[in-house]
Amino acid sequence: MKSFKSLSHWGLFLLCFSLCIPSCKKKTDSDDDVDASSGRFYKYTSCTVIAPPAEVNLSSYYKKYLNCSGIPVIGSAAIDDEALIETDNMIKFMLRGKDNIKNKMIETGSYFAITPTLGLGLMDAPELAGSPYINAYVGGIVLPDKHIGVASMDNILCQGDPNNNSLHEFVHLMHLDGFRHAYPNFESEAKAAFSKSKNKGLWANTHLSRDFLEYIAAGVTIWYGVSKQSSPAAGDGAFNNIVKRSELLAYDPDLYNFIATYFHTDTDVPGCLAPVLDPVGNANCDPTVTDIDGNSYNVVSIGSQCWLKENLRTAHYQDGSAIYNPNGNSTDWQSNTTGACLSYQNNPSNDATTGKVYNFYAVMNSKNICPNGWHIPNTTDWGVLLNQLGGVPVASAAMKSTSSLWQAPNVGATNSSGFTAMPYGATSDGVGFQGHGNGAAFWISDEKSSTEGKLIMLFNSSTDAWTTKGGKTGGLYCRCVKD
Ligand SMILES: [Zn+2]
Repeated sequence: MKSFKSLSHWGLFLLCFSLCIPSCKKKTDSDDDVDASSGRFYKYTSCTVIAPPAEVNLSSYYKKYLNCSGIPVIGSAAIDDEALIETDNMIKFMLRGKDNIKNKMIETGSYFAITPTLGLGLMDAPELAGSPYINAYVGGIVLPDKHIGVASMDNILCQGDPNNNSLHEFVHLMHLDGFRHAYPNFESEAKAAFSKSKNKGLWANTHLSRDFLEYIAAGVTIWYGVSKQSSPAAGDGAFNNIVKRSELLAYDPDLYNFIATYFHTDTDVPGCLAPVLDPVGNANCDPTVTDIDGNSYNVVSIGSQCWLKENLRTAHYQDGSAIYNPNGNSTDWQSNTTGACLSYQNNPSNDATTGKVYNFYAVMNSKNICPNGWHIPNTTDWGVLLNQLGGVPVASAAMKSTSSLWQAPNVGATNSSGFTAMPYGATSDGVGFQGHGNGAAFWISDEKSSTEGKLIMLFNSSTDAWTTKGGKTGGLYCRCVKD
């Protein structure tokens, strides 16, 4: 009966792998292939500051033009070249890996203007003449119908408020000219997160409570660590005390997850304002570690811990004895109650990519399958990791690779931790692999029962990191953690 119970649970586990694909959002690819071969500025690129080409038909007020990204930055004779260069660098940073957004913006004709000062000074831009929206407190603006964003040189060169206004405005431009065309659900998801935050009473007395547009732009400014910090926490009308990614996650996980879905996770924002970053931990791990077979693994430091950045692939225990490999004999695999391992599709040439799978008997064997000085993580080790990544409901976003091997909609995946979990599935019969593309599962070293071990699962449909159990004869991938 014991083995029956174990097998039936394993069946459920695998069923879950294949059925937990959500019917919800699906990326629409129709706009991904815009090739940026149209639009007002697309022919007129320059990575040095030049006079505006006559063909782009700008006001004669503008004397400077820099278009190194596809989205030109312009200014009058009074604007320092440095301000244009900083803004161009910011734009390139924001569009890193976002060619579909960038190309849509090029096609739309997005551009960015710099005025000497903020507030009423923004009115110097001829496009803003007569604008009723500018007052002494406005740090920048986007006019959707003109596809222009405007910010000021004093702010860009850090002579004004310590808030990256140009980045904030550029997020508006990305939203209005890029994201909403490329991703049909972008706005509905933003609105849903916004109304949820409203219902919870979040962001009172700040920009973010104004409307979903500001919710996105000011949220992304926080995400990149370049939002002004204000005390008290209650908000000063524009800002509050949330300035770091970890604080955003703790305060408004819906906004965090929305941003994590659409914006990259890099932290090297160019410009005069150094981003406020979360501590990256102090584990100071060696970059690689070698197992008994001589396989070298990349190591990632996550907070206080050192983890293998790839799946284990050793064929021997630490003492040099071989781990049994049934080589595709399913009966052998399923009846084995000592340690066993297997290559993906029983093909050792896959090991370097996917790693090997191990049954739980190999995991619990005191001869240890991990490199010397390392072990299979127990419940506590995993708990420390998940907590460092924001907790169970969101941790897998930081753990899942952004590789296209993960089937859409690889929810929330940012791999911000560097853990780089890949969706290589699992095997129950030692022959077929299930869940390839939708799930990653790793053993936890703690036994659940005489026939079951504990494991952790990540899915393409969720940001959760589930802890569950599975029959000991199942084959899962392993990550080791340093002692
Ligand atoms: Zn705004």
